Amino acid sequence: MIKDIRNIVMLTGAGISAESGLATFRGPDGLWEGHRVEDVCTPEALARHAELVHRFYDERRAKLAEVHPNAAHEALAALDRAWDGDLLIVTQNVDDLHERAGARRLLHMHGELRSALCADCGKAVAWADPLPPQSVCGGCARPSLRPDIVFFGEMPYEMDRIDAALRDADLFVSIGTSGAVYPAAGFVQTARHVGARTLELNLDPSAGSFYFEESRMGPASKLVPELVRELLG
Ligand code: NAD
Ligand code: ZN
Repeated sequence: MIKDIRNIVMLTGAGISAESGLATFRGPDGLWEGHRVEDVCTPEALARHAELVHRFYDERRAKLAEVHPNAAHEALAALDRAWDGDLLIVTQNVDDLHERAGARRLLHMHGELRSALCADCGKAVAWADPLPPQSVCGGCARPSLRPDIVFFGEMPYEMDRIDAALRDADLFVSIGTSGAVYPAAGFVQTARHVGARTLELNLDPSAGSFYFEESRMGPASKLVPELVRELLG
């Protein structure tokens, strides 16, 4: 599975950050920190209950100060430093644990907690503090800053770049993601279509396990370092 690989795409989800102490989305009760998805992850929720949505992401942003990258983030960062071929780490996570571990060839397809986005002019700025509704955009001076999170029904970031990387990939690895949220859940099919090998690492079989050539079950902090050791020989 791991022989003759040059170009790699890694897709990561909430499961890779679980052992750092960040809750996943679809726990047993299908909630993210006690909230229903529809209440915090949709444009409708933002329009109707801006206070609640902003506060939810303020809490998630504040929580980042209490957590650290785990062995899985560290291993991907080590791979990034050492790998000669193409590598793209595509994360669905809005935390910053990949970059704090040192990963550089990284893209946040669902946005970032430590960023604020202007709903009017589209400018994004780094943001470390609480973000009250009606915060003023430095670009257009309108009171339109919102969390820079891709909500359900919105277009994920950098889909063209992701698609190009998938089309060149020899190996596609999906780590700690439930395979329930499209378009990310469909990446495995693109990868297979172009003849890439496909590997899933997850604690339990996911909704998409069926599509992967190989699934390895266990905690990311164990499986990801093992995979990186294999890849780096
Ligand atoms: P998800 O919560 O739907 O699925 C998490 C997956 O991780 C599950 O399949 C679970 O079996 C697996 N998992 C749990 N613990 C694991 C471990 N220790 N090792 C390996 N696998 C483990 O997450 P998702 O598929 O990423 O979709 C949720 C969406 O919610 C994301 O798109 C993201 O934007 C958002 N989200 C982000 C964060 C974050 O940034 N840390 C946290 C929660 C939700
Ligand atoms: Zn603006």
